[in-house]
Amino acid sequence: KTTSKAYDSDDSDDDDDDDYSSDDDDNSKLTGAERVRLKEMEKEREIEAARERREERMREALKNRSPDDLRSPVCVVMGHVDTGKTKLLDKIRRTNVQEGEAGGITQQIGATYFPMDNLRNITERLNKDLSIDVKLPGLLVIDTPGHESFANLRHRGSSSANVAVLVVDIMHGLEQQTIESIKMLRAKRVPFVCAINKVDRCYGWQPLPGAPIRESLAQQPENVFSEFETRTQQVITQLMEQGLNAKLYYENKRFKQVVSLVPTSAHTGEGIPDLLMVLLTLTQRLMVEQLMFSPIMEATVLDVKKIEGVGTTVDVLLMNGKLRRGDTIVVAGMNGPIVTQIRALLTPQPAKEMRVKGEFVHHEELRAAMGVKIAAQNLEDAIAGTSMFLLTDDDDEDELKDAVMADVADIMGNVSVTGRGVSVQASTLGSLEALMEFLRTSDIPVASVQIGPVHKKDVSRASIMLEHEKEYACILAFDVKVTREAQEMAEDLGVRIFTADIIYHLFDHFTKYLEECKNERK
Ligand code: GDP
Repeated sequence: KTTSKAYDSDDSDDDDDDDYSSDDDDNSKLTGAERVRLKEMEKEREIEAARERREERMREALKNRSPDDLRSPVCVVMGHVDTGKTKLLDKIRRTNVQEGEAGGITQQIGATYFPMDNLRNITERLNKDLSIDVKLPGLLVIDTPGHESFANLRHRGSSSANVAVLVVDIMHGLEQQTIESIKMLRAKRVPFVCAINKVDRCYGWQPLPGAPIRESLAQQPENVFSEFETRTQQVITQLMEQGLNAKLYYENKRFKQVVSLVPTSAHTGEGIPDLLMVLLTLTQRLMVEQLMFSPIMEATVLDVKKIEGVGTTVDVLLMNGKLRRGDTIVVAGMNGPIVTQIRALLTPQPAKEMRVKGEFVHHEELRAAMGVKIAAQNLEDAIAGTSMFLLTDDDDEDELKDAVMADVADIMGNVSVTGRGVSVQASTLGSLEALMEFLRTSDIPVASVQIGPVHKKDVSRASIMLEHEKEYACILAFDVKVTREAQEMAEDLGVRIFTADIIYHLFDHFTKYLEECKNERK
């Protein structure tokens, strides 16, 4: 049942458009072109019917949901580089462990899971007028801050995140990536809380770890508090320029219209319980509808990894529904859609036991929301940052293949057909899209795109440009590794490889290089 084939070369018997000999007698008087069109129309009708059946099932599934059966919301942490996203996440995990509340906090594939009891313990110490009374199982926080895979999925009109934390450095205010994150969150209608981080850097700050941030603020000397206030006011003004109303969380009674600002310090831990509390309040007030468990499976591929003894696996974020071992899945691949069967459903060994490196727990079935590792055949060229579908008996395989490739096709459409331009490589479809967007707005042609590490074959491909436009014999590698062989080959051939984890840095280096090339020619 496991197949993987090129997107365009459909070699199955039943819908081979070139196979005129199998036509019915009724069609014998038609011209070749008419017969082709007839077949196309038939196929369109089939796809349409399959889509209707799928939508009907969705509607049924939605009807059967219950507000008593909720799944965990998925939270992403976004913002400009160096605002403290990673440190905040670390601190949340560690604070809880230190305070003996590790109970149930689990490190999942690509995410950290906080059970509700754990969160309730933390937040109950804070003011009671924002107490939490929902039946959410917990909160799933995506580990990689600003995870790009969340950025695409335009075609499905949904996103992998239910709620977000936007981190702003109090000393810097809104920065370029903050503004981009805001745009993305608004486009996806993801409600968010804004953490104004690094409050401890207000000059003279006196930490009061463990206390609600309001108490910390109240005990600050007047000049420290007034610095805090000035800077916070500046953030509020900048948010207003982006069309957002914002208020300090303890003054905000209109969750739906006004963004809550929570002062935090990832350094001292102040404000972190407050942040979690506001996050949960936001979730429960806005999203019970979205969070009802639905049997229809929804998942996003976060990462593609080779694991010794297991083979190539995909790490997925299971947002809704269930996955079972043996299920047939459809994922996007660099060479077309991949249809394959789940050989193993894996999660890491629980932290409490002796964790044997590389060992996983095998499951027969897993339920949303959680991070899961899937082992299956033919996943080598799977693309991170795309949706994954389940292929059931009621589905039309072609429709799912088209759906899974829609985002990819869109991005590949911007690759120069003449083969002239730079080579681009990125870790996920979302990061590739961001990079392509940059290049498009600067009129830099792209000759080829790849997802994943830079190998020798990529250098070889880029070297073609050496004979044409030398300055385009480049690989722009965004958030991916370059193998040593590839690096050596590039040096031998004179292919430039630009690498960076931050899109702006990559772009700056490259445009500077183009400038130099231009000057050299003069
Ligand atoms: P990210 O790029 O947004 O993930 O930022 P990091 O978490 O890597 O933090 C960037 C730098 O800021 C690091 O040097 C951190 O130690 C520092 N940092 C993060 N949060 C705080 C904070 O609350 N207070 C202070 N003083 N430094 C912080």
